[in-house]
Amino acid sequence: MALLMPRIEITLSKIQYNAQFLCAFYGQKGIDLMGVSKAVLGNPLVAEAMILGGVKFIADSRIENIQRMRAAGIFTQFVLLRTPLSQAESVIQNADISLNTELRTIKELSHYAVQHNKTHQIIVMAELGDLREGVLPKDLSQFIKDAEALPSIQIVGIGCNLACYGGIKPDNAKMRQLSELTHSIEKELRINLALISGGNSANYDWYTSAQDVGRINNLRLGESILLGYETAHRKTIPGLDTSAFKLVAEVIESKKKPSLPNGESCQDAFGNSPQYLDRGIHQRVIIALGIQDILVSGLSPLDDLEILGASSDHIILEDRSTNFPIGSEVTFGLTYGGLLAAMTSPFIKKHFIGCPDSVLPLIS
Ligand SMILES: *Cc1c(COP(=O)(O)O)cnc(C)c1O
Repeated sequence: MALLMPRIEITLSKIQYNAQFLCAFYGQKGIDLMGVSKAVLGNPLVAEAMILGGVKFIADSRIENIQRMRAAGIFTQFVLLRTPLSQAESVIQNADISLNTELRTIKELSHYAVQHNKTHQIIVMAELGDLREGVLPKDLSQFIKDAEALPSIQIVGIGCNLACYGGIKPDNAKMRQLSELTHSIEKELRINLALISGGNSANYDWYTSAQDVGRINNLRLGESILLGYETAHRKTIPGLDTSAFKLVAEVIESKKKPSLPNGESCQDAFGNSPQYLDRGIHQRVIIALGIQDILVSGLSPLDDLEILGASSDHIILEDRSTNFPIGSEVTFGLTYGGLLAAMTSPFIKKHFIGCPDSVLPLIS
């Protein structure tokens, strides 16, 4: 059978290996992991590979992705990463834990938890400077006190998220602040906070240099497990596999052409007025993949090809080695943005290596 195109090739054993490696690595100082599945749209096989690698939770920002994994028979503790509101009932039915920052939302969750006769666990997010989600530190203890008073709600911990919106580093000072907040809230409210979730794939540098991780005992990792790098500087983590995902597309035109467009200039398909470099006559290939499918800046050709530009349905490349006739395959590595887009495009086929596509081994 000819392989479908375009396709993303996903090597599950590499994802499992990375999860295993990171569980052992962070486990040395008492930190356990949530495997974050949002970049792969909650793909059950990827979630399963993470679980086989040892992650204690699967976390996703979309409740629909969690539903998908549940429906496929994935058995684990599910965490919803984005604070919910109108989806509160579905959150109660599908997630064990959610991250929260608004009392109004927790009241909704409480309402449906009572109705469904469930206890819902909550991690309250603290705003430590990145200015995305989070309760301000000065308001945190009153917030937790009010939330704890709601029926069928259990506050299991606090967390923070850095290096996402504001580009603020999860360093020693920030992690110490989270540990100190944990202490003071426990003392003041006489409760135990069991889960202190210090951040994401950007926490690698902090962890490697920290003598003492304080109260931090959990991280939520997507990119490092899937792509093998930390995200504060996009450095490869030594020991990890960076090739679990590859994108393959088909050459649909291959010709020697001039490198400069010819005629009166006007706007391109996206309203830009592009400028081009004169490289003389060169070998140009076009692949059947475009902006509707992929974040073009998230692709890095693994062969001697250079991306010149793209439109909705085509990417144009310079073929320096003249190795890519019509019908040949072009392979790319992916950034996080590229992975996210490729997994979301209905036109890109998901091809699993190391496991038949249609058979999902049940792990429950
Ligand atoms: C996406 C997300 C993560 C995971 O981030 P990575 O960079 O993939 O490790 C962690 N926490 C929250 C709240 C997120 O939304």
